[in-house]
Amino acid sequence: MDNFNTLSDNEPPLDTEELNSEIVPFATVSSEKPFINSEIPNSDFNTVSPATEQFRSEYFPQATDKQWNSWRWQIQNSYTKFDKLSEVIGESHIDDMISLSNSRKLPLRITPYYASLLDNKGNDYAIAKSVVPSKLEFITSPGEELDPLHEDSMCPTPNLVHRYPDRTLLLSTGFCSVYCRYCTRTHMVQKEKKHYGTKAWENSINYIKNNPNVRDVIISGGDPLTMNDSHLEFLLSSLHAIPHIDIIRIGTKVPMVLPQRITKKLVKMLKKYHPLYMSIHATHPDEITPEVTEAITRLADAGIVLGSQTVLLKGVNDSVETMKSLIFKLLKVRVKPYYIYQCDPIPGSSHFRTPVSKGIEIIQGLRGHISGYGIPHYVIDAPGGGGKVPILPEYYQGRDGDNVVIKNFEGKIYKYYDPI
Ligand code: SF4
Repeated sequence: MDNFNTLSDNEPPLDTEELNSEIVPFATVSSEKPFINSEIPNSDFNTVSPATEQFRSEYFPQATDKQWNSWRWQIQNSYTKFDKLSEVIGESHIDDMISLSNSRKLPLRITPYYASLLDNKGNDYAIAKSVVPSKLEFITSPGEELDPLHEDSMCPTPNLVHRYPDRTLLLSTGFCSVYCRYCTRTHMVQKEKKHYGTKAWENSINYIKNNPNVRDVIISGGDPLTMNDSHLEFLLSSLHAIPHIDIIRIGTKVPMVLPQRITKKLVKMLKKYHPLYMSIHATHPDEITPEVTEAITRLADAGIVLGSQTVLLKGVNDSVETMKSLIFKLLKVRVKPYYIYQCDPIPGSSHFRTPVSKGIEIIQGLRGHISGYGIPHYVIDAPGGGGKVPILPEYYQGRDGDNVVIKNFEGKIYKYYDPI
């Protein structure tokens, strides 16, 4: 491809325009060895909530404002070791640390910012359960498989999933700033510590160029917002230049776990590529902090269409009240609740899975109590690659002669005249 000038594909924090210094590998950086202040570019993100400030002064007393508010510093100082994490959450919450450390399971990674939300006794450590490894991950149950959606068999080029006729899913990187223990893409995330780099996208971009039926590209991963601005812009501009691409979507958890990434510079770049949609992975109402509100406000003000995706997780968000609270908070920050997913059957995920009836109960508990804007689709991603199937409470009850019989949110039955 002639206009591909391969950008460097080093570790996520590298952006030579902004950070004119050599990158320090993650493993050598810890909270005891913070970056030299001059190596961190000034951030235009400076919202720090009182609760997070308290966490920072306790666990990162030497971190300056400049460091804490830098997304690169956050990634470089993330919790990747169990002993460090146990200082925050207490060893009783970390099962069998030695076997987990030695296992080849999805690794541990939590940003210092997100770690500040973990010690939440009031909500039974709901957020911690979603990102702190557990020995329950060693239990494989019937129906579980590494790639339950069979995405690997739908890839015309490496890391490009073409399941629906008009859409493709570009798995742009294997890196995330936080690893969710129930991740559908456990089979591909964090295979290497590096981002793939621009060269790896060449065949996928060419495939999309040569398929005029594709009008919608979802950039996901891993988490695309962990890439530096120049890599991300390279991808967005390449796709935006394809005449038959109508919309581009970004799937990300970054605004919730690394809000410092949503700099004014990033947002200014993103808004060049409208119509741009963003699906934000949201798990629990406690995630909507002042930092997250600031990050999402920036994205919404830039005209990016925002929707949420939430995985239904046992003990984390599996109640009508928790989902309702999350939805109210999302609507308030201009994020349309889009999907609630039944947890996919990846190996070692049964402790997260609720019965499907729980999802139906939640949708029933929302309908009639929140405006239609706040009602997400509850879907099961059909194992084997069948795509998303919406699961609905039975509002349509069938026919009675010239009427259709319908049930409202209170369970009352009505007839609607609809002659055959
Ligand atoms: S952020 Fe998304 S891709 Fe990354 S681990 Fe979580 S669910 Fe998986």
